[in-house]
Amino acid sequence: MMSVTRKEFLKVERIVQSLSAERLERAREELKASGKTTDGDVNQVLRSLSLYGFRQPMSRELRLSMRRKIKSLIIREGIPAIWFTLNPNDITNPVKLRLTAYRLREPEEAEAFLTSLDASYKRVRLAISDPLSSALFFHREISMFFKYYVKVGDSSVFGRISQYFGAVETNERGALHLHGLLWLHGNMYLNPLLKDVEDEGGGSYRDRVIQYVDSVFTEDLDQEAFYAVQAERTVTSDVSLMLRNREQFSTAFEEEANFCAGVTQVHTHSPTCVKYSFSRPERTRNLCRFKAPWRLVEKTAFKEGGVLEIRRNHNMVNRWNKAF
Ligand SMILES: [Zn+2]
Repeated sequence: MMSVTRKEFLKVERIVQSLSAERLERAREELKASGKTTDGDVNQVLRSLSLYGFRQPMSRELRLSMRRKIKSLIIREGIPAIWFTLNPNDITNPVKLRLTAYRLREPEEAEAFLTSLDASYKRVRLAISDPLSSALFFHREISMFFKYYVKVGDSSVFGRISQYFGAVETNERGALHLHGLLWLHGNMYLNPLLKDVEDEGGGSYRDRVIQYVDSVFTEDLDQEAFYAVQAERTVTSDVSLMLRNREQFSTAFEEEANFCAGVTQVHTHSPTCVKYSFSRPERTRNLCRFKAPWRLVEKTAFKEGGVLEIRRNHNMVNRWNKAF
């Protein structure tokens, strides 16, 4: 795979057309003998071409290839209904800590080490000190997400998913996260759906669509309830007791979901928010590219032109899913 920047394209195109097999052969001999060539055009081409390709993770070529795959899926399945980001907590997650402790130590020593782990800075050090267990942990979390939450072809917390696509990226610290797209069963009918719900007599259909949306997505957060739970325990406290009793778990579910969202889903502005906005004219730009804080919405509804608005009672919470 060869690629060249847009700026250099015309120049490189002209040079490539002017090159002959003899010239290239001569340059090859020179490069072989001394590592340099006296042919200026060949040097220019070598400078402008990027030769690493699809095998290099995060390379431009790999991104372009992923983009083509996504476009192909869109042609076959329609516009994906759900866009998501998975950012597994690799610093304080108990499974990750255990994995790292055991990978580098004998069992007894590992257990002793885990009990000694209380201060958060130690956890950070542990997460960074063993990138391999971070990668193993990430793979495990992502695989389980697709197996138990997405469940292609089956009913799931997202409804019924027919296809998915995921792209792995790293953050500044080198930690992995995944951006993904989900296509719903019957996804091709998403476009007419927006028209169908607008039509007169589409009332009950519209209600069912809204009911589905409310069952999968939420933009609510009860800040008071979050503070109340936070006063009692941290998000990494052991809640396995709760999982043993199904009834108890369903009554506690909403409170638990709200608590997790309070810890992990509140938007905080970071350099990522503003990385594209400084190039835009000052008057038109919203510093946060995610446009937070968001406007509150009383209830989920279709607005004019088929725009769907989801109920929102907190202006800094990301759109999230209660079961996840
Ligand atoms: Zn922001």
